[in-house]
Amino acid sequence: MEFEKEVKYLTKKERRKIPLQHMPEMAPEIRKDCFDEVTLGYSLHEAQMEAARCIQCKDPACVAGCPVGINIPKFLEEIVEGDLDSSIDTVWDKTALPAVCGRVCPQEIQCEIVCVVGKKKGVEPVAIGNLEMFIADWARASGIKNNPAIPPSTGKKIAVVGSGPAGITVAGDLAKKGHKVTIYEALHRAGGVLLYGIPEFRLAKDIVDYELDALRDLGVEIKCNQVIGRTIDIDELLEEYGYDAVFVGVGAGLPNFLNIPGEDLNGVFSANEYLTRANLMKAFDFPNVDTPIIAGRKVAILGAGNVAMDAARTAVRLGAKSVNIVYRRTRAQSPSRHIEIHHAEEEGVNFHFLRSPIEFIGDASGRLVGVSCQVMELGEPDEGGRQRPIPVGDEHQYIDCDLAIIAIGTSANPLLTNVTEGLELNRWGNIQADPKTGKTTKDKVWAGGDITLGQATVILAMGMGRDAATSIDEYLKTK
Ligand SMILES: Cc1cc2nc3c(=O)[nH]c(=O)nc-3n(C[C@H](O)[C@H](O)[C@H](O)COP(=O)(O)OP(=O)(O)OC[C@H]3O[C@@H](n4cnc5c(N)ncnc54)[C@H](O)[C@@H]3O)c2cc1C
Repeated sequence: MEFEKEVKYLTKKERRKIPLQHMPEMAPEIRKDCFDEVTLGYSLHEAQMEAARCIQCKDPACVAGCPVGINIPKFLEEIVEGDLDSSIDTVWDKTALPAVCGRVCPQEIQCEIVCVVGKKKGVEPVAIGNLEMFIADWARASGIKNNPAIPPSTGKKIAVVGSGPAGITVAGDLAKKGHKVTIYEALHRAGGVLLYGIPEFRLAKDIVDYELDALRDLGVEIKCNQVIGRTIDIDELLEEYGYDAVFVGVGAGLPNFLNIPGEDLNGVFSANEYLTRANLMKAFDFPNVDTPIIAGRKVAILGAGNVAMDAARTAVRLGAKSVNIVYRRTRAQSPSRHIEIHHAEEEGVNFHFLRSPIEFIGDASGRLVGVSCQVMELGEPDEGGRQRPIPVGDEHQYIDCDLAIIAIGTSANPLLTNVTEGLELNRWGNIQADPKTGKTTKDKVWAGGDITLGQATVILAMGMGRDAATSIDEYLKTK
């Protein structure tokens, strides 16, 4: 290809002149009415141009910025060279879920924030996440799977509880070492939050299914509808089922509530329930599916993280006429990725910053009609240095709504931990595990992901899964 010949011989200086290749996206007025993915992906030409912006630093800060240590300059240069087979192998060497991470990882605070290209005033860092998405999508479109040769069976059996990013990673890594791995998943489909939480328009579900198929090809068995702690407990897995080790990656799926008056009104939902209905149960297709959903004409979302943005943008697609995000802090303090706020705004979502919900208001029949909010301002910094929101006298704002979705975080679900002896928890109910190995206080039991970290990120859950797999493998070698 003429372009490849040209670009691979560009000097560092010339590469610096290539402008950022923007990710093509579906137009807001079209995507508002459908659940199709918003990002459309780079063409090969766009990917090679973007990858060529990397100046191949000798000591690349981006690799240190990546929680799983992907050799970023190498996989980018392989894209520039057109050697896509090698490029995907470089990525797979460190991550099992590049198509997922390319889409949902907060690269802007990880690998991209330290990119040397972006240090120059007015110049954007290399779009590493977009390129990770490109190479993973290319592999999927080409039917290439991450299935390396597996060593002979070690005869050891490991049970993994939960099929989110932590469980998927630990299962894949252990299977590649020749161990027999079985995943036990409580829901009727595997994938964790990737499936039931993050909506289709941000992460298409066939991508998650493709990654899970690759896992099955490695010999991993996935058993759904198995609530560990109810149907079977961890001691039974170890003693009666004969597993040599257990990894617990059950996430943090218990929604937090505001504990304000009116929270029990008809029309008030947790984001977890709302998104699970819409994503996993496909309620947007009711009555063709069994699960209904309250679409809501006027919707209030309480909270401003990624989960809140997902709920708001889902409400838009379900036909809401007005969607209002209510957050007690400022836009700059919002925990959501900026791109999510940007996409939500493009789709017509309104933002009410420095507003704290104090009461849900209902009509005589117990249906929600509005939410009353206290107006806030920023006060003194807290212990962490972040300015605390404080009330502005008795100034209030009333927001009309027939649907309110609470998205203020989740906590550890005690269902499994309450019935497992010897598993020490911290004061928030998360499992205490060694941060380097994931080893818990219970013999033969490891844990990782949100159940140990609290609500975190996909890549951190994967990183913990990887560390735990290494530790479990070392332990099994001593047996
Ligand atoms: C709506 C939403 C949007 C998000 N967006 C982003 C984002 O853009 N970027 C990002 O990096 N992170 C995001 N996150 C956070 C991220 O998804 C989580 O940090 C990550 O999924 C945690 O992985 P995990 O494997 O620890 O747990 P999970 O993904 O929660 O998976 C745990 C699995 O365990 C199963 N389980 C629970 N209890 C049991 C039991 N007793 N027995 C058997 N199985 C059980 C659950 O059903 C679930 O399938 C988002 C989260 C949500 C809810």
